[in-house]
Amino acid sequence: MSTAPAKPHHVVIVGAGFGGLETAFRLAGAPVKITLVDRRNHHLFQPLLYQVATASLATSEIAWPIRYLLRDRPEVTTLFANVNGVDAAGKRVLLEDGDVLSYDTLVLATGARHAYFGHDEWEPFAPGLKTLEDATTLRRRILVAFERAERETDPLKRAALLTFVIIGAGPTGVELAGTIADLAQDTLPPDFRNIDTHKTRVVLIEAGPRVLAGFPDDLSSYAQASLERVGVEVMLGQPVTECTADGVVYGGKKLEARTIIWAAGVRASRAAEWLDAPSDRAHRVQVLPDLTVPEHPDIFAVGDTVTIAGPDGNPVPGIAPAAKQQGRYVAALIRARLTGKTLPPFRYKHAGSLAQIGKRRAVIDFGWLKLRGTIAWWIWGIAHIYFLIGLRHRLSVALSWLWIHARDQRAARLITQGSSKVTR
Ligand SMILES: Cc1cc2nc3c(=O)[nH]c(=O)nc-3n(C[C@H](O)[C@H](O)[C@H](O)COP(=O)(O)OP(=O)(O)OC[C@H]3O[C@@H](n4cnc5c(N)ncnc54)[C@H](O)[C@@H]3O)c2cc1C
Repeated sequence: MSTAPAKPHHVVIVGAGFGGLETAFRLAGAPVKITLVDRRNHHLFQPLLYQVATASLATSEIAWPIRYLLRDRPEVTTLFANVNGVDAAGKRVLLEDGDVLSYDTLVLATGARHAYFGHDEWEPFAPGLKTLEDATTLRRRILVAFERAERETDPLKRAALLTFVIIGAGPTGVELAGTIADLAQDTLPPDFRNIDTHKTRVVLIEAGPRVLAGFPDDLSSYAQASLERVGVEVMLGQPVTECTADGVVYGGKKLEARTIIWAAGVRASRAAEWLDAPSDRAHRVQVLPDLTVPEHPDIFAVGDTVTIAGPDGNPVPGIAPAAKQQGRYVAALIRARLTGKTLPPFRYKHAGSLAQIGKRRAVIDFGWLKLRGTIAWWIWGIAHIYFLIGLRHRLSVALSWLWIHARDQRAARLITQGSSKVTR
C-alpha cells in the first residue's frame, strides 16, 4: 500500500525587509515550503533612503524586486499583498483582499512606521522617511522649494522657501540636515541666478539635550559642531508644539518654513494588535527569549516590530543588523525544531553604530574604538556598499558617491510626481 508523501512544513513570512528576507535566505535547503508576503514588490535599503530624498542616489540604487532576489529558490513563493490580520486559532494569515494563507509556522517581520506622538494632523506638513515614495516626495519638496524661491520676489516668502526644518536629531535627522546643507552650499549655487543658495537655513530641532543621543557624548558633540560648521542651526531641548503649512512652533517661537521633515519617532506595525500580544509604548511585540509571541509557539516576530532586552539589559536597537540577526536565529530555530531539537535563547551582538553627518564627515562607535571625520566617513561608505545586494548596485552607488565627492554634483536632482504648479 502506497502512502501520500508528507506535505512540507509551510513557513509564511510577512515582510521582506531585513528581518523577513534574512529568514528566507537562511532557510535555504531546509525541508520547508515558504510563502513570503509583502505589500511592496521591493526590498528597501532604508539606511540610504535619505540619499534618495536629497538627490544623491536614484531609487533603483537602493531597492531590489523581492521576486528577483528569490528567483533561484523554487520552494519560495513571493506574494504581493497587504496582510491585515492573523487568525492564530485557525493558523491563517488574513490578506486585505479577503484571501487567506494557512501556515505551520508564521514569521512576522512587518517593521515600523512614523509616529507623531498623538499629532497625526502634522503628517501632511511634516512627512517622514520610510518608503521610496516618501523619499521621492521629500526630494520633490526640497527641489521645488529652491525652484519657487528662484521666482519669488517677496523677501519674506523667499526666506521661508529657503528654510528647511528637520524635527528629530537621531541618525536620520542628522544625515538629512548635513546633506541638505551640502546640497545648498556646494551643489546648487552655480545653477541658480536669482537666489544665493548659500543663504539657505537648515534648522535641526531636537526635544532632547543632544544630537545622536545613542552615541557617546564626545561623538555627539563632534556631530553637532560639524553640522554647525556647514551652517546647520541646531536647536536642542526644544520640542515642537505645532506644525502647519507655514512652519513650526518650537520653544514658544514660530519659524516660517515651507519644508518640514519628520525624523522624530517610530511606532511598530500592527503585529501586536493582530495577535492581541503584549506590547510596549511604541506598540512593539514583547517577544519571548526565543523570539516567539507569548502564547503562540508557532508564531515568531522579528526586527523593528518587536522589543526584547539585549545582553546589557537595554532593548535591542531598531537597526538593520538586529533585524538580520533575529531573522537568522529564527531560521536556525525552525530548522532545529524540524528535527525535534531546540536552541538556546536569542542573543544580540552589537557590532557598532554609524552615522554620516554630511560629505566627508561621519561618526562611528564600535564600543572598543570611536572614530570621527573623514576616516569614519570612508569606513561608513565601505560598510554601506558592502551591505548592498549585488555587484551592480555596489558599483553604481560607489560611482555616484565618488562623483559627489569629486564634483559636488548630484545626478538624481529630478522633480517627479508633479508639475511646476505643485507646491506641496
Ligand atoms: C530613514 C531610515 C534610516 C535608517 N538608517 C539606518 C542605519 O543607518 N543603520 C541601520 O542599521 N538601520 C537604519 N534604519 C533602521 C532599519 O532600516 C530598520 O531597523 C530595519 O529596516 C528593520 O527591518 P525589519 O525587517 O524589521 O523591517 P523593514 O525593513 O521595515 O521591513 C518591513 C517589511 O514589511 C512589509 N510590511 C509591513 N506591513 C505589512 C503588511 N501589513 N502586509 C505586508 N507587508 C507588510 C513592508 O513593506 C516592509 O517591506 C533606518 C530606518 C529608516 C526609516
